[in-house]
Amino acid sequence: MGGTNKKNKGYTDNRADRFFPRIVGIDAGTTNCLIAYPDNITKRGECIRNEDGFETTPSVVCIRPDAEIDIGRTAKGEALLYPDRTKALYKREIGHQKVSLTVDHIDYSPQQMTALVLGRLKKDAEEELREEVLDAVITVPAYFDSNQRKATEEAGRMAGYNVRDILDEPVAVVYNADSLDALQGYNLVVDVGGGTSDLVVVHVTENTIEEKLIDGDTRLGGSDWDRSFVEFIKRDKLCGKILDKEGEGELAINAEEAKKKLSEKEETWFTVNTLSGREKVTVTRDEFEACTLEWLLKLRDIVNRVDETMKARGIPGLNSVILAGGSTRMPQIMRMIEGCFPGIRVIARDLDTAVAKGAAMYAKDLVLNNSRKLIRDFEEETRKLIRVSSRTYGVAAYVDEERKVCNILYRNETLPIPEKEDIFYTRYVNQKEVAIDVYESRLDDPFAEVADCVQVGNCRLKICGDLPKGSPLTISLALEEDGTLLVRGRELTGQTEVTAVMQTKALLDENEFEIQKNVVEGLLLVL
Ligand code: AMP
Repeated sequence: MGGTNKKNKGYTDNRADRFFPRIVGIDAGTTNCLIAYPDNITKRGECIRNEDGFETTPSVVCIRPDAEIDIGRTAKGEALLYPDRTKALYKREIGHQKVSLTVDHIDYSPQQMTALVLGRLKKDAEEELREEVLDAVITVPAYFDSNQRKATEEAGRMAGYNVRDILDEPVAVVYNADSLDALQGYNLVVDVGGGTSDLVVVHVTENTIEEKLIDGDTRLGGSDWDRSFVEFIKRDKLCGKILDKEGEGELAINAEEAKKKLSEKEETWFTVNTLSGREKVTVTRDEFEACTLEWLLKLRDIVNRVDETMKARGIPGLNSVILAGGSTRMPQIMRMIEGCFPGIRVIARDLDTAVAKGAAMYAKDLVLNNSRKLIRDFEEETRKLIRVSSRTYGVAAYVDEERKVCNILYRNETLPIPEKEDIFYTRYVNQKEVAIDVYESRLDDPFAEVADCVQVGNCRLKICGDLPKGSPLTISLALEEDGTLLVRGRELTGQTEVTAVMQTKALLDENEFEIQKNVVEGLLLVL
C-alpha cells in the first residue's frame, strides 16, 4: 500500500462535515490496526491515514530509553535497536496475561499496549476529522473468549474511547459489502490476519446478517508462516551462520517482505548481515510453501471442521467464501479454499481494510438504531445483526466421583439463549449449601474436563432443612445478547432458590485500571 505524506495533503473540505454520525470503527489487529469512519457522502466506511500517510498502523510499541514512546511503523523499525523495549503480538496475550512488557522495572499490561496504539489512532482520527473522537466500535476475532473481549474493551476505555460495542471481525467484513444483494444465502468468511484465523458462517436474508457458526484459532496467523520461514532460511540458506540481535531483526523484516513478494512472484532475494559477513538469500515460492505447510494444514483442518459442522446442521451449500486479512493473499490459501469448496465464488476485496470499514458501517447502524428520531442525514435502511454464542457454558459437578463441567448452553446457539436447566443431586446427607461454579469452553461434549474450561463465576445455593443425600436440585443458565449470563439454582424439596447475574469480570480492578490509564495518558501526551 502506498503512503502519502499527510502534511502535504492540503485538505479543502472539513472532514467532520462528512462524518456523521460521529463514531468510528477500529480494527485492533495482531499486526496492524486501522480506524475508519462512516462517510455519509460515499456511504461507505473510510479509513483514516496515520501521520505517515498509511491506513495501517503496525501494532508495535517501543518505550525508548528517554522514556518517550514510538508507536507503529517507527516502533517496528526500532525493534532492531531496542528489542527489549519493543513489543509486538501483544494481542496474543490480551485477556490471559497481566504483563506484556517490562521496561526499566515498570510492567505494562497487554491492555496498555493495545491502548497506546488505539490512542495513537484516536489522535490521527481527531486530526483528520478535526473534532474529538469518543464513540467507537472495536473488532475482535469471533473466536475470542469473554476475557479477551473484556480486556479489549478495557484497552479501548484506557485509550479514551467510549466503547459502544465489541464486534466480531468476520461480521465487520460482511458489513463492508456495499449491498447485501449478492450475499443472500450462506457465506463463509475466512479472515486470516497476522496472528489469528477466524472463520464465521453468516446467513444473509434481505437486510439481516445472522451469524450461524464460529470457528478458528487465535494462535494461527501470518506471523506463524513468518516464523517457520525464518527457521528454514537460517537452517537451509544461511547454513547455521550466526546472526547477532540486529541481524535477527533484519532477517525477520526481510523474510516477511519476501513472503509478501512470493505471493506475486515465483522467486525473490534479499540480503542479511551475519557474523561471517553479508549474505544473499534467494528463496522460491515452492520452498516457502513447503516450509510453512504445517500452518496451511492447520487452517485446512478448521475449514474442513466448519464444512462438516455445516453439513451436520443441515446448512445447504455456500453462496460465497469471503476472504479477509493480509495473509489470504498467499496463493496457497486461495488454492486450499478452492479445493475445499469447488465452484463456489471467492470474494477477495479490501483485504486489509474491510474489517475497519465494516466496523464503521456497523457503528453507524448502531447509532442510527439508538437515535433514529434525532438523525435525518442517513435515510437508508440499517442492517440487522443476529449473533451466536462463541462459547459453551456449564457448571462443575461430580460425575462418577470425578469433578467435571456439565455443559448446559452450547456454542453457536443464537443469542439471546433462553433459560435451559439441568438436574443435579446433593452429595451429602444434610448438605447445607451447593456451590455453583460456572465455566466456559469451546467444547461441544456434554461433559468436559475442568482443566479444559475457564471459570466465569460462582454463586451458592443455600439449602433449608435436612435432606437425604441425592436430593434433586436444578441449575439453569441463560445468555443475553451482550454476553451477560443469568444463573439460577433451585432446590426442589425446600423450594429455596438462588439467582446470579454473571458478567465477565473486569480483568483490572478500578484502582489498577486508573493507574494503568494514567500511565497510558502520560505516554500519549508526548506523542
Ligand atoms: P492483517 O492482520 O490483516 O493486517 O494481516 C497482516 C498479515 O498479513 C501479516 O502477517 C502480513 O505479513 C500478511 N500479509 C500482508 N500482505 C501479504 C501478502 N502480499 N502476502 C502474504 N502475506 C501478507
